[in-house]
Amino acid sequence: MKPVCPRCQSSAVYVMTDSTNCQLVYELLSPAALIGLGVSLCKSFKVHPVIGVVAGTAIATVIEIAKPHSALPLLINKQHCCDDCTHVFSTIN
Ligand SMILES: [Zn+2]
Repeated sequence: MKPVCPRCQSSAVYVMTDSTNCQLVYELLSPAALIGLGVSLCKSFKVHPVIGVVAGTAIATVIEIAKPHSALPLLINKQHCCDDCTHVFSTIN
């Protein structure tokens, strides 16, 4: 059954979940990106950057542990994008 857009009922939808998409998410959640984010957050909140490094490393470690489990729902829940109204929705296959 081909999914239809829940917003505009258009059948012009395409699947977004592919390996490149997953890889992009993991790149955004890479330890280097998280530590960089932590440091910049600390700078904006005037906290010592070391706290940002520690927090970023801790979050990165948690994500590294969760990765094999989080990859599965990503594959089951297919993300679709509507070609007509760019509405993003997911279906469970
Ligand atoms: Zn739509």
